[in-house]
Amino acid sequence: MTRAEGLLSSVFGFGAFRPGQAEIVDAVAKGRNTLAIMPTGGGKSLCYQLPALLRDGVTVVISPLIALMRDQVRALRAAGVEAGALTSGNSEDETEEVFRSLDEGRLKLLYMAPERLASGGTLTLLRRIGIGLIAVDEAHCVSQWGHDFRPDYLRIGALRRALDVPLAAFTATADEETRVEIVSRLFEGASPDVFLHGFDRPNIHLAFDVKDQPRRQILTFAAARRGQSGIVYCATRAKTETLAAALRDEGHAACHYHGGMEADDRREVEARFQQDDGLIVVATVAFGMGIDKPDIRWVAHADLPKSIEAYYQEIGRAGRDGAPAETLTLFGADDIRLRRAQVDEGLAPGERKAADHARLNALLGLAEATSCRRQRLLAYFGEAAEPCGACDLCDAPPDVFDGTEAVRKALSAILRTGESFGAGHLIDILIGHATDKIRARNHDGLPTFGVGGDLPKAQWQAIFRQMMGHNLIRPDPDRHGAFRMTEAARPILRGEATVTLRRDTIRKAAGRPAVKMLVSEENATLLSALKAKRRALAESAKVPAYVIFPDRTLIE
Ligand code: ADP
Ligand code: MG
Ligand code: ZN
Repeated sequence: MTRAEGLLSSVFGFGAFRPGQAEIVDAVAKGRNTLAIMPTGGGKSLCYQLPALLRDGVTVVISPLIALMRDQVRALRAAGVEAGALTSGNSEDETEEVFRSLDEGRLKLLYMAPERLASGGTLTLLRRIGIGLIAVDEAHCVSQWGHDFRPDYLRIGALRRALDVPLAAFTATADEETRVEIVSRLFEGASPDVFLHGFDRPNIHLAFDVKDQPRRQILTFAAARRGQSGIVYCATRAKTETLAAALRDEGHAACHYHGGMEADDRREVEARFQQDDGLIVVATVAFGMGIDKPDIRWVAHADLPKSIEAYYQEIGRAGRDGAPAETLTLFGADDIRLRRAQVDEGLAPGERKAADHARLNALLGLAEATSCRRQRLLAYFGEAAEPCGACDLCDAPPDVFDGTEAVRKALSAILRTGESFGAGHLIDILIGHATDKIRARNHDGLPTFGVGGDLPKAQWQAIFRQMMGHNLIRPDPDRHGAFRMTEAARPILRGEATVTLRRDTIRKAAGRPAVKMLVSEENATLLSALKAKRRALAESAKVPAYVIFPDRTLIE
């Protein structure tokens, strides 16, 4: 038995390393600069905690969340390891205790928020106490391309140079771009050993579904898993509250969680979720990084996440104990428009926007996939895999058809009308529905007028959604969301490529068209009138209706 294996069982109480851990622990313990990419729940913490015990001196751990640091310190102390944290959440006593054990040379792990690095005193302190290793948890926070960018992470590179000690960085975000950025920002001038470890989480069942009756779909999913701990992610704070109430109405233990809540209330939800069995937390993405509950049995997305990385991290919170876990991600044309608009209207510079669109494209491709989802997800992270047999598409292969002809008709309608219209008008042209708007513009004289009459309107809506999903068309933010054709669509128009579409999602979409009302100005009285109108519409027409604001907020 190696020393590492001995500590693994005597200190951490584990019988064996998880896949990948042994090699990483070995490299880090030997003082190699290391970048380890492992899935969420893969066991990254151990990969710096154990080497910290094997190395001389103190290991500084940079971690983005106070809650996460405190949990780890508590667990380490309980295992008899001298560990402490310097965070803004410390009491005076706690801080004093940390300094005392540092001075006495007892401390092995010192956790620190990146913000600490901004103060000059920190470097002086770290120089004085003799650091043997810098460990960077959630290292993707150094990436400006990622979704958790923390500017203070940029100070870590300078810290490494100043202390001249090995650095070990850990993350679950592994796309090529982020990887390259982590290496250049944290290891400048030194090339780390890179460990890219298995992204597959075979115990997590993957499934997507087109929004049909979104609330009912989530309630049905939860009802089939009654009594199990689960998370429902929503795009808006308001929705977390209404959906949690709806779940309670059906007898579930459920609470909401979002960034707008008081810190105390949020902590209470976190603690309840950790302790109780079978609590459902309905949350925005604010709920997550600090959650370390091994037996979350399911994760549902009531709205499409913003990128494939976000999707992977969020579903990755399920089934950390290795037992079967299930996921369901709902999406619809409105989600795609919302996420596109968030990227387009965000403040990010142009190149970053292009990358954000690409990440969204990857997720949309996954949502509209026609064969094994896991294979597609893993391919995005650079892993080749066989069809998994444990995703919705392997369970029930979708009914697909060659959609090339339909897509060409739609593209032609878009181009002949100067890329100036949204789906509604384009569909009227395709099915030959001569509305006033069509007659006023002489669009009933277009060669494409009526060429799509063989398909009903709702099917065309699903085709337009899938075209967005395949990134063949995009809503133009500068022209009220009118569709523009993308470069990716050209080979289809030229007859050099074909498109496969799913028929099942089309059939489903056909059942329930949504009624939307556009509001040009935010106004409280107008809003309440609209809400009443929406309710009346939803009740009388038995279809979902929304109020959509110019900032793309959706009110259901
Ligand atoms: P990550 O940071 O990669 O998401 P964690 O370090 O939080 O993962 O570990 C996830 C869970 O796996 C924790 O509950 C941890 O105790 C457990 N774990 C880590 N290593 C092992 C191991 N070798 N054997 C069993 N459980 C482990
Ligand atoms: Mg972790
Ligand atoms: Zn599969």
